[in-house]
Amino acid sequence: MVQSAILGFPRMGVNRDLKKATEAYWGGKLSQAELLSEAKRLRLEHWNIQKNAGVSIIPSNDFALYDQVLHHIQDFGAAPERYTKYQLNPVDEYFAMGRGLQREGVDVPSLEMVKWFDSNYHYVKPTLQDNQTFKLNPNPKAVADFLEAKEAGITTRPVLVGPISFLHLGKADRGQSVDPIDLLEKLLPIYEELLAKLKAAGAETVQIDEPVLVFDLPAKTKAAFKPTYEKFASLGSKIPSIVFATYFGDIVHNIEALPKDIYAVHVDLVRNPEQLETVVSALGPKTILSAGVVDGRNIWKTNFQKAIEKVEAAIQKLGKERVIVATSSSLLHTPHTLASEKKLDPEIADWFSFAVEKATEVAIIAKAVTEGPASVRAELEANAKSVQARASSKRTNDPAVKERQSKIAASDYNRQSEFTTRIAQQQKSLGLPLFPTTTIGSFPQTKEIRIQRNKFTKGEITAEEYEKFIEKEIQDVVKIQEELDLDVYVHGEPERNDMVQYFGERLDGYAFTTHAWVQSYGSRCVRPPIVVGDISRPAPMTVKESKYAVSISKKPMKGMLTGPITCLRWSFPRDDVHQSVQAEQLALALRDEVVDLEAAGVFVIQVDEPALREGLPLRAGKEREAYLDWAVKSFRLSVSGVKDSTQIHSHFCYSEFQDFFHAIAALDADVLSIENSKSDAKLLKVFVDEAYPRHIGPGVYDIHSPRVPSEQEIKDRIEEMLQFLKPEQLWIDPDCGLKTRQWSETKAALTNMVNAAKFYRQKY
Ligand code: GLN
Ligand code: ZN
Repeated sequence: MVQSAILGFPRMGVNRDLKKATEAYWGGKLSQAELLSEAKRLRLEHWNIQKNAGVSIIPSNDFALYDQVLHHIQDFGAAPERYTKYQLNPVDEYFAMGRGLQREGVDVPSLEMVKWFDSNYHYVKPTLQDNQTFKLNPNPKAVADFLEAKEAGITTRPVLVGPISFLHLGKADRGQSVDPIDLLEKLLPIYEELLAKLKAAGAETVQIDEPVLVFDLPAKTKAAFKPTYEKFASLGSKIPSIVFATYFGDIVHNIEALPKDIYAVHVDLVRNPEQLETVVSALGPKTILSAGVVDGRNIWKTNFQKAIEKVEAAIQKLGKERVIVATSSSLLHTPHTLASEKKLDPEIADWFSFAVEKATEVAIIAKAVTEGPASVRAELEANAKSVQARASSKRTNDPAVKERQSKIAASDYNRQSEFTTRIAQQQKSLGLPLFPTTTIGSFPQTKEIRIQRNKFTKGEITAEEYEKFIEKEIQDVVKIQEELDLDVYVHGEPERNDMVQYFGERLDGYAFTTHAWVQSYGSRCVRPPIVVGDISRPAPMTVKESKYAVSISKKPMKGMLTGPITCLRWSFPRDDVHQSVQAEQLALALRDEVVDLEAAGVFVIQVDEPALREGLPLRAGKEREAYLDWAVKSFRLSVSGVKDSTQIHSHFCYSEFQDFFHAIAALDADVLSIENSKSDAKLLKVFVDEAYPRHIGPGVYDIHSPRVPSEQEIKDRIEEMLQFLKPEQLWIDPDCGLKTRQWSETKAALTNMVNAAKFYRQKY
């Protein structure tokens, strides 16, 4: 019997139940006991879903109240002293590390949270001390969850973040200099103890995630795998059999590091099917291969025929006893169930598969390869029909879009003239002072805006009424910008719910869900739109609002768009055409929008690309270069249709682009605004070193906090920036959009910002 396995299941529940429960707990509306019992209910529900789907290997300890890595930090006794010193109860200490805690007698910020590989999930970084010690919690969560499932009659495979990944994904605490991997010796006894406890509780196998094996690793880290897992192997039957799991990439470049004496190895065959051969030949003589053939990162129905072919290829080499059919990664990155989508067009809905449906898929594939296709004939036929229908659907294929793509000329990627010519014309027509001030796009999204938008969506107010309301909002922000004496205005984006969804809703080729939420971090979930087919723009998307804003402004008004890469990265992309093709289609649609904005009198246009960096392939080298090439091209394609006198801005929410600076420079944007207030101004040195000629607005204050920066602070910041940038290059702006802020703090902060800019204008 070929077994089927799931590497992890989403935790939120059908209706984001976990989000609701944790937020209610934080708000004092739910007791801790109630929160924990809700969590228990969800775990049980999710185990039963998988069991009823016929999955043979069901994970436990994949659940987390906030983040799974954070549970490990706590259970290993690795909570920094600034948290433990308050002697909070474990649940509150856990949340304090995840989200900070400020209440009577307690004031502690959260631990750093960063992206989990190239997904949109964020994990809490293990934050380690030079004299770090570890101590296993006497009642570790992994054991408790295993026993909880066992009690419910379900035997699970506990999931642990492996010791090498735990350390490699961690960092030295502020002021500490420890290289986390040097703590491995100290950490291993904790794993041994934990594994022994799991075995004693009845766990026969355990899934140990070592996804860092897909990275380019320092030699020391790479060398740590063999001895670590040989050590575990030497414990024999005192610990469960180990399934060594990697995902989100291939491990071919690190294949020597793959431990031999191990029960099973899991690899991602959705992302990197070509690694099968190398991995199979590197397995120990008895090692089982867990073949990740059902995509844990996307929402598409699995193509059974292709998945079965992959599994059969493995079976041919290893035999049925040595192959497991599995999801490519945890299903954490997929929404809960398709059954919640009542509004989706049935034609499109038939192409999707969310976590609940994917559970069934792994079971069916396992059955097909065990008992032969006849055992699941009906399922295979339905699947083939659906795959075929999607491939040939009109919604997927738009010949007009393809035709246009085939006609893109080399010149479409270039502005008419070089920057020096452009900027001279822009300066003449825009008439901006030295140190021009602007903002990044959004102004506070007030309660009133949300109320009106809701009413409009529900049909409680008419389109005209809503339009009037939006115009009034635009009038208000224009007036405020006049009073603040900013130099380049924005319309404030009051009509936008979200910077990607807003555009997706106005483009052909996109689909929207009502319940397809995916955890982003803690209790926060996102509901990405889905690219289902060739993308095109049936009508202008932002021109009406921008044109109105121009008509009432005495100063240049900046038009605001979301760039092709960000639209793509923050959506579920298609899996049937390369992402570069999708980005190019988005770029063409945006190009038309940019040209239309210009025709409407908008002569400064910002195309935001905050997601450009997160799309960077995990490893340096060819793949990364290829990505940057098409990403840069799609940006250039989207903005190059305008005259020299029209000024193109772009915005990024980070300042660390040392490692791909040439790509940022290649965007050829007239003005870049970047985040900089929290980072070292030295990061700007790269602009000097590379003799970057164009304009830059490094954010002068942090918009993530309600704190109002003083004029002096902003002046100091500008002073630092002037060490690296020429006065005629420097724009003065905040770090990012202001939509999450209150008006009072926004006005106060911008007043100080404008005054600081004026001070330098006088000085130079
Ligand atoms: N223009 C967007 C805003 O101001 C940019 C948001 C972002 O960079 N994440 O809200
Ligand atoms: Zn931003």
